[in-house]
Amino acid sequence: MTFKDLEIIEPILKALQAEGYTHPTPIQQQSIPILLKGKDLLGCAQTGTGKTAAFGVPILQQLYLNKHHENGKRRVKALVVTPTRELAIQIAESFTTYGKFTGIKNTVIFGGVSQNSQTNALSRGVDILVATPGRLLDLINQRYISLDHIEHFVLDEADQMLDMGFIHDIKKIIALLPSKRQSLFFSATMHPTIVDLSRKILGNPEKVSVQPEQTTAEKVGQSLYFVAKADKIKLLIHLLQTESIHSLLVFSRTKHGANKIVKLLDKAEISAEAIHGNKSQNARQKALSNFKSGETDVLVATDIAARGIDIDELSHVVNYDLPNVPESYVHRIGRTGRAGASGLAISFCDGEERAFLRDIEKLISQKIPVVDDHPYVDEGGEVISEKPKSRTSKQGSSRAKKPSESSGAVNRNKRRRNNWKKKD
Ligand code: AMP
Repeated sequence: MTFKDLEIIEPILKALQAEGYTHPTPIQQQSIPILLKGKDLLGCAQTGTGKTAAFGVPILQQLYLNKHHENGKRRVKALVVTPTRELAIQIAESFTTYGKFTGIKNTVIFGGVSQNSQTNALSRGVDILVATPGRLLDLINQRYISLDHIEHFVLDEADQMLDMGFIHDIKKIIALLPSKRQSLFFSATMHPTIVDLSRKILGNPEKVSVQPEQTTAEKVGQSLYFVAKADKIKLLIHLLQTESIHSLLVFSRTKHGANKIVKLLDKAEISAEAIHGNKSQNARQKALSNFKSGETDVLVATDIAARGIDIDELSHVVNYDLPNVPESYVHRIGRTGRAGASGLAISFCDGEERAFLRDIEKLISQKIPVVDDHPYVDEGGEVISEKPKSRTSKQGSSRAKKPSESSGAVNRNKRRRNNWKKKD
């Protein structure tokens, strides 16, 4: 199937071709015909599936075909609400890319930065607005934005919205929308509260579901390292030195933990930066672009900050801490192996995390293969004992000190980075 078969109009086809999109992904194949008919949609899908084009392309097409009805200043006719700044920026960039030959304008608004450039863009007139909930309500209250002319409404990553405590904001936004509209609701998981929320937004939706969680888990290579908490950093450095890791995203359960990992990697002369909610918008963007350009070797992120971040050619994900919500594991490992590429997800599991591991393996219906020939094997099982830190396998105790002491870390890293760059 091609995008032409989906009856996509020429100006958008041209943009998709320029992006190298030859065939629609499954969610695009399923969603585009439904949305072009003007129907509501309930989508169970996560980022990495081509979800943005699945809703972006039909919205652009409908706005383009109705463009001649509008005179005077552009009014916001499509609204996409998404939980994080990073996702908002990415979605707006996608609208710009897919719509570059349509003359349809979009802008993005999010909190944590001055509102001036955002309100200036709004006052020049836009057709599509991508927003995070708090700043959206703020600018509505200040009368910079009216939702009176919304024809298409997208609620993206609904489950993440709930996790982040946006439910009341979402309800307020819904109450301001015109009743005659097309609504789209996307969520990676469908808990009862999510289904409940979707009923408040959608009329009689068509449902599409792609890449159920297990499928993603099957696609990505996975491995598990049992390691004591105190040895995790040494194991991470060891892997960076011995495996051919081109680009690595490390997940930490907490913001504080993420900062600590960066500090310890820094000590070992491995360049790393963290992104999480306590970092300013600019710092997060800078960290992301440094990582994308290869300037930093390792990006350390919390679940919320990393959700949906689109990094091409991410070869490895390391779960430094196992997530306590099993679905997060699938989201995390889905950051690698995107758009058909292969990737490897490595998980560290200490004694306290064995219960999390059981939940994850239950969810993905598979056992994660264990790597037991590494220098920091923790044979301790579930109870963390007071054994000394050097409690590693016999083979490991003599090798355990090597990585952090080794000055080879940087050189090897540089070599690796250069190899990687050469390939580009
Ligand atoms: P998304 O789920 O929207 O974040 O998309 C994930 C990645 O897939 C992004 O890098 C998109 O640029 C890419 N992508 C989306 N649709 C297609 C397609 N039909 N062909 C190739 N790549 C695509």
